Amino acid sequence: MVTERNWAGNYGYQAPQIAHPASVAELQDMVTGAAKIRALGSRHSFNDIADTAGTLVVLDRLDAGISVDAQNMTVTVSGGTRYGTLAAELQRRGFALHNLASLPHISVAGAVATATHGSGDRNGNLATAVAALELITADGAVVTARGGDPDFAGMVVGLGALGIVSRLTLDIEPSFEIVQSVFEGLDWEQVLESFDDVTSAAYSVSLFTDWSGTKVGQAWLKNRTDQAVLSAGFPEFFSGTPATQARHPLPGVSGSNCTEQLGVPGPWSDRLAHFRMEFTPSKGEELQSEYLIPREHAVEAIRTIRGLSKIVTPLLLVGEVRTIAADDLWLSPNYGRDGIGLHFTWRRDEPAVTAILPRLEAELAPFGARPHWGKLFHGGAAALAPLYPRFAEFTALAGRLDPAGKFRNAFLDRTVFGR
Ligand SMILES: Cc1cc2nc3c(=O)[nH]c(=O)nc-3n(C[C@H](O)[C@H](O)[C@H](O)COP(=O)(O)OP(=O)(O)OC[C@H]3O[C@@H](n4cnc5c(N)ncnc54)[C@H](O)[C@@H]3O)c2cc1C
Repeated sequence: MVTERNWAGNYGYQAPQIAHPASVAELQDMVTGAAKIRALGSRHSFNDIADTAGTLVVLDRLDAGISVDAQNMTVTVSGGTRYGTLAAELQRRGFALHNLASLPHISVAGAVATATHGSGDRNGNLATAVAALELITADGAVVTARGGDPDFAGMVVGLGALGIVSRLTLDIEPSFEIVQSVFEGLDWEQVLESFDDVTSAAYSVSLFTDWSGTKVGQAWLKNRTDQAVLSAGFPEFFSGTPATQARHPLPGVSGSNCTEQLGVPGPWSDRLAHFRMEFTPSKGEELQSEYLIPREHAVEAIRTIRGLSKIVTPLLLVGEVRTIAADDLWLSPNYGRDGIGLHFTWRRDEPAVTAILPRLEAELAPFGARPHWGKLFHGGAAALAPLYPRFAEFTALAGRLDPAGKFRNAFLDRTVFGR
């Protein structure tokens, strides 16, 4: 068994071996010869989603292969490329991605596979930038799928179930600048009464809260300077006042680990994520869960969690509310609906966190909450299937591309295939 653990350290991979192919041809041979095999990204998921009973494949020896097509406004990268590397290179060449997650450390392929997202009313998750992907399927073949191809929308958020993504092509746009401002101590009632005004006040808005009390801890506003809604000097935001020093979402952690704030304009690549590439993101010693809720239930769902603060807050490092635009990717938690993400960064007390999740999920079930695939959640395939209109099409696609179940693992059996 390998000794590798995930980034948070709460999960030890059970795979008997790990491999680092140096070329796509070597990767194809590995897939062809394996009975069980899966790709491992940068290990930032909190559950067993990446694990396998066979070979874990890490694509860190493949060349990042960042290739910009300025005419079609796309960039192609290898399956092992991290967003931090890609963002720096795109910015150097005058281009941008539409959004980033809270951290730049994650691999593009791993983030896309779980529909990782940032924030912004009009920003789809990171998978929505995928224009094409190249996949090594169970028989070792290289399959290319492009937007508009049959099944493409099923292949993007693939949970690693369809094959190993060797290359991705993403839509890009001209580079833009972001001004990031943090406001502290917003009034919860005012925020909920004017929720649409709050989340549309910037290109990307995040609310950090421990869900207790009458105040939202922090609002992080990332505005594009070419579309600015709020100026850096704005004196108040829903009774919140501008932070006078750089802040970290977690109380007591230095804001210097975070991307530049205080209204100083700078490139998208240095502002859209919350955490800087050079530092450990978030806390490290933590667990995470997140539920994606349709926009129309946002306020009621937030009130529900606030009502549970007596049991939630003691287990929490911090919570975050973000917004994500609808998409058409079959297993995306944003499929078919604009929504919000209710996120929980938990203390690393896995028994206590695991014990609270069924209650949280029962409380959020009336809102059609879909869990983030890469974080801790309780529900299995029976609970998840009714939440995704294209679920059965996804399992049929996986059956066609991987008839022997080479890419299946315990996570997929539990949450997708239902055994
Ligand atoms: C500190 C921290 C902050 C986070 N912030 C956010 C956030 O802001 N927004 C958000 O939505 N999520 C966030 N996450 C969750 C994280 O983005 C997801 O779990 C993401 O999937 C991790 O990507 P990874 O490269 O580490 O993939 P892994 O965790 O290594 O793998 C995830 C899945 O991708 C598959 N995969 C990886 N590479 C390939 C490939 N080449 N081909 C096919 N399948 C592949 C794996 O098999 C697995 O199924 C955060 C996590 C941490 C630890």
